[in-house]
Amino acid sequence: MPVLSFVSSMIKPGDDIRVAVNWAIENEFHGVEISGSTFWPDLLDDEDIDWLVASAAGHGITYTIHFLLKAAPAAHHTERWLGWLGQMKQTIAMAGRINCPVIVLHSGVIDCPGVEPERATEALRKDAVDNLLRFLREVEPLAREAGTVICLENLHHRQGDVTRSYQHLIDIVDAIDSPALKITLDVGHAFIHDGLPEAIEAFGDRIYHVHLDDALDGKDHMEIGTGELDMELYAEMLEPGRVGVATMEIGGGPDGDYEGAQLRSRDALKARFGDLLT
Ligand SMILES: [Zn+2]
Repeated sequence: MPVLSFVSSMIKPGDDIRVAVNWAIENEFHGVEISGSTFWPDLLDDEDIDWLVASAAGHGITYTIHFLLKAAPAAHHTERWLGWLGQMKQTIAMAGRINCPVIVLHSGVIDCPGVEPERATEALRKDAVDNLLRFLREVEPLAREAGTVICLENLHHRQGDVTRSYQHLIDIVDAIDSPALKITLDVGHAFIHDGLPEAIEAFGDRIYHVHLDDALDGKDHMEIGTGELDMELYAEMLEPGRVGVATMEIGGGPDGDYEGAQLRSRDALKARFGDLLT
């Protein structure tokens, strides 16, 4: 029975985690995904961490963390690679303290000095994959120790991205071969690009966490029920025993009603899946 969560930055102001957690409690959510638009270890002090832990214990809340959206853990640029590595290590430590089972990680773009990502050759992309594997080999033991799982997310497979197919992502996860490295299935990304049933089939039990949204005409992160992504396409992922947390990754829509979009999406999911979601 997956816990249903939402992205903390959708509750404004987006960088005040207590506002998002209090909103979750008021609206009877049992999960909060700590958003990837902020580097939280710099922002949260010991008192905040204690407050998060106490709120989770008191209200039955599970946190997940989305690592920085702009991260490029496959960077060729050594200083930047080391920067992301340091920030990931701090994020893993934070995950351990707040009992967070999932850290979502983007494989990001090919960040090679002097080369526009879109102009990177396949050889350069493969080198970037090696950089990412080195990154993952450094952090995977720390994640295991902290009791969390790093989940690489399927992205848009654009020119300049490090992972441009489902197989690229699978190859990375299988090369590391660790219980602390799995996949976040983003249903909207898959639906728009190489197919959602194809993603579920290809990733199999590497999927540990899902991002839910709706999509229309190539646009994703839409309120559930307002696009053309049929929930039946991901219904099996919400069956008991598949994923522990399902996160709605939903923006505010054209009217900017972020909170309403979360609540209406939750209602749409509950109308279909009911007690399958906590
Ligand atoms: Zn996502």
